[in-house]
Amino acid sequence: MKNTEQQQDYIIRIVGNDGEFLQITDLQNKYKGKIYKSLIEDNHFEMMDPKIYSIAENCYNVGKSCFEYWLKKDIEAEAKRIRTEQFNLFYPNITLFVKEENQKMILSNPNYYSIVAPENFYRMSYIYDKRTKITLGELLQIWENEPVFSTTCKKCKGKSVVYFFGGSPLSGTMFEAENICVECGNRGNGAGTHIFNALWKTRLKYKSIEPVAEKPDTIESLVKTCKWGSENKELVEDDKMPKNQKKSHICSQKIN
Ligand SMILES: [Zn+2]
Repeated sequence: MKNTEQQQDYIIRIVGNDGEFLQITDLQNKYKGKIYKSLIEDNHFEMMDPKIYSIAENCYNVGKSCFEYWLKKDIEAEAKRIRTEQFNLFYPNITLFVKEENQKMILSNPNYYSIVAPENFYRMSYIYDKRTKITLGELLQIWENEPVFSTTCKKCKGKSVVYFFGGSPLSGTMFEAENICVECGNRGNGAGTHIFNALWKTRLKYKSIEPVAEKPDTIESLVKTCKWGSENKELVEDDKMPKNQKKSHICSQKIN
C-alpha cells in the first residue's frame, strides 16, 4: 500500500508538445514544467497503462529525483509561498496564543500543543542539533516558566518573549534574539540574558512526551479558534470544563 502511495507521488503527465520539448504537469495540475522529449526515452520510462492504473493518458512514473528536478521551479515557488503564509500566520499571532484562555486551551489539547513553529527556534554555529524545531506547547511553557526567554518591551514595558535566538555554544555569545511583546506586539532584539548557552540549555530541558499528536491541527484553524474564543470570552467562560479534565492532556514535560 505504501509503495503505491509513494509511486503516485511521482507521476507526471505530458500535456503538450513544444518543438523539441514536452510540457508536463503533475497529476493534480499543481506544478508545470518543460523537458526535452528525449528524456523520457533516455530514462526508459514507459507510459502507464490507463486501464490498469485508472489514470489519464500520457502518464509516466518518473521517480522522485526526476519529478522534483523537472518541476523544480513550481515546487520551490509553492514551498516558498506556504512558508511565508505560515510565518505570517504564526509569529504575529503569538500575542493571541499567550492570552490566558487560549494558552490553557492549547496546553490541554494535543492537536494544538503539537503544532510546530514554522521556523527553527534557534540557530547555532559549529554544532549540528536536530532539536532546533519546537512545538507551540513547548514555547508557551518556556515563556511562562523561564525568565531568560523574556525581556521588557521597550515600547510599553510589558513582557516580550523570545521566539528565535542564535549564537555560539563554544564562546557562549548570543548573536541574536528576536522577541515579540505579548501586550502590544512590538518586536525587538534581546532576551533576559546575553549568554547563548543559558537559553539553549534551558530549551533542552523541555521534551515532548510520546505520543504527541501525529497530525496536529493547522495554524490557520488554531488562529480562528483563538480569535473566536477571545471575541466570545463570556460564552467560553460559561462553559468551563472541570479543572481535572484540563490537565489530563498535557503532553510535554520538563526534564529534571
Ligand atoms: Zn509592548
